[in-house]
Amino acid sequence: MTDGARSATPPGLTPREVATHCPYCALQCGMTLRADDTGVTVHPRQFPTNRGGLCQKGWTAAELLDHPDRLTTPLVRDAATGDLHPASWDTALDRVVAGIRAVQDDAGRDAVAVFGGGGLTNEKAYALGKFARIGLRTRHIDYNGRFCMSSAAAAGMRAFGIDRGLPFPLADLGRADTLLLVGANPAETMPPLVRWLTDQRRNGGKLIVVDPRVTATARQADLHLQPLPGTDLAVANALLHIALTEGWVDRAYVADRTTGFDAVRRGVAAWWPARAEQLCGVPVADLEATARALGTGGRVIILTARGAEQHAKGVDTVTAYVNLALALGLPGRDGSGYGCLTGQGNGQGGREHGQKADQLPGYRRIDDPAAREHVAGVWGVPADDLPGPGVPAYKLLDSLGTPGGPRALLVFGSNPVVSAPRAARIEGRLRDLDLLVVADLLLSETAALADVVLPTAQWAEEDGTMTNLEGRVLRRRALRPPPPGVRTDLAIISELAARLVATEAPTAPPADNTPAPAASASPGPADTRPEVVAGARFPADPAVVFAELRRASAGGAADYAGISWDRIDADDGVYWPCATEDGPDTPRLFAKSFATPDGRARFHAVDHRPAAEEVCATYPLHFTTGRVLAQYQSGTQTRRVAALRRAAPEAFVELHPDLATRLGIDDGDPVRVTSRRGEFRAPARLSAGIRPDTVFAPFHYAGAGRANSVTNDAVDPISGMPEFKICAVRVEKA
Ligand code: SF4
Repeated sequence: MTDGARSATPPGLTPREVATHCPYCALQCGMTLRADDTGVTVHPRQFPTNRGGLCQKGWTAAELLDHPDRLTTPLVRDAATGDLHPASWDTALDRVVAGIRAVQDDAGRDAVAVFGGGGLTNEKAYALGKFARIGLRTRHIDYNGRFCMSSAAAAGMRAFGIDRGLPFPLADLGRADTLLLVGANPAETMPPLVRWLTDQRRNGGKLIVVDPRVTATARQADLHLQPLPGTDLAVANALLHIALTEGWVDRAYVADRTTGFDAVRRGVAAWWPARAEQLCGVPVADLEATARALGTGGRVIILTARGAEQHAKGVDTVTAYVNLALALGLPGRDGSGYGCLTGQGNGQGGREHGQKADQLPGYRRIDDPAAREHVAGVWGVPADDLPGPGVPAYKLLDSLGTPGGPRALLVFGSNPVVSAPRAARIEGRLRDLDLLVVADLLLSETAALADVVLPTAQWAEEDGTMTNLEGRVLRRRALRPPPPGVRTDLAIISELAARLVATEAPTAPPADNTPAPAASASPGPADTRPEVVAGARFPADPAVVFAELRRASAGGAADYAGISWDRIDADDGVYWPCATEDGPDTPRLFAKSFATPDGRARFHAVDHRPAAEEVCATYPLHFTTGRVLAQYQSGTQTRRVAALRRAAPEAFVELHPDLATRLGIDDGDPVRVTSRRGEFRAPARLSAGIRPDTVFAPFHYAGAGRANSVTNDAVDPISGMPEFKICAVRVEKA
């Protein structure tokens, strides 16, 4: 099969079966989809990451394909009634284009913004970034991946010169003598990964979990450190302090492969274990046992996830664990290393190819002149035509409809009304827009506010590629075409681009007064009508888009130039960077050098600082958010799946029985959680597995149970990632 071919039936499968991957999280479990007369069914597939396992979300993913809530026609808001009504594609797209034109004519190109998602395929993320930069010519594009792992990405970039979630295959976890998980709960977020943890302990390895709650993962650990939310950084510095004191730092590695250690050494000198215990609440003995396991453990892996990242000091917190890993000589050592567990299905690839405000395809910086030249060359435009960097997601959302901010927004694959911090404020910003366009398969809470809703294809109806948490590029394969009335995101982008060009104000006629090409001119073999040129620039065929993405990424940090669909099929995926089709891919990074100019990893001295909002007499409790097994992200999809709804039907507020007694709350009582920004209500769930000074709620729910109504919109100054993991609240019986 060539790159231009559609998904063929892989060997051993019937024409009504297809080998693909789960639509949800970054583990991207392998699955087979089978169509028969009763519908589409999911079957687990042996794949190196999930080894035949699926979680409940994956098993039930096909239920949405023919769900009664599925959108199968565009919706346009009636100005008179204020309601959304079914409309033809022509009507809907005309409305979108007219709205964009009106806003840009009045307020300039940056008055239109684009918001993408970490679940979009690589092809879509690439096309969306390109559409924003040369279709709309706006600098304003960002995506919900800012909420997911941008702090680990920034920490990885500044330490290693590259950002790949795991710089080694997932299978390495099973061989680790010591595995430290910081703010990660894979037993609920990606259950098939737990098999690797089981292997690890069966092989005699030690699992240590750092989490303020006794999660399903923490219950399996040999040692659980339960720090006060917002103090993970101090835990890391204390661990490095102990490693230094005990002589477990790998001096030769530090000297040969890193820079900047002296400042870090001086900084962690102030984090003696007793001081850390006082701040974090983690006993000195547990800190010492953890440091010993890391410092003397042979093959050692340190992994961070959202618990470490979603703070206004998320980059520094992750950096503290990177410092620890570097001091112990782990990155690049066989079977050891530091990594980040990516969350969203294409959280990795989604940030590599241009939908991030500051990036161009191949993980290039948009402010790098050479990068601009390269990408502009692939796109066939002058480099000067490319806009500069935009702003991170929350800042973008918070500027919508404000003076000088964007007045139109196009949303693809995201639901910020539920997923953004301080969500009521963002909901208000969306309502203030002149034009809100949402492309989605269901009427999400964000789509319900839109002026135009465009129905999109689902994962089983489209081809493309995803990049999993290991940096392994995978094939998504279509089992069937989208239903009548539904289009792929790529087709929508392509059509919008063509219409935008076709409606562009005519440019000044050439000196010889030759008329400009008319939109209605007859097509010919060398058709140069503007909409045809735009259509060619924005192809709807994912194979064609991927071929272009390869060229655009060539030579960049995330180099996909050597990755073909054939090669992915033959090798169970291909790890980037991969520069040539006949050259090797890169399952393991850093064996010889790091991706910095001098090949050395960089230490950065970082220190604990308080959360953006500390508890006080009015708001005396720490509030933290996270996920539950049966729901995914903003719940647009999983809240509509019957089995998942039964398993996790509504939000809840987890609190310690001692706290509940003090507040006069029984298990199941409705409670109100209030912060300076708003409130939400949900039943109480008592658990001895949470600290008595902390309450927890899942963020998957909308309406009265929307946990993000209270979260803080303080963001990390480097990554722009919001502080979802800690704010101050009051809890009372509702
Ligand atoms: S672990 Fe993630 S990828 Fe695997 S089945 Fe569950 S949601 Fe899908």
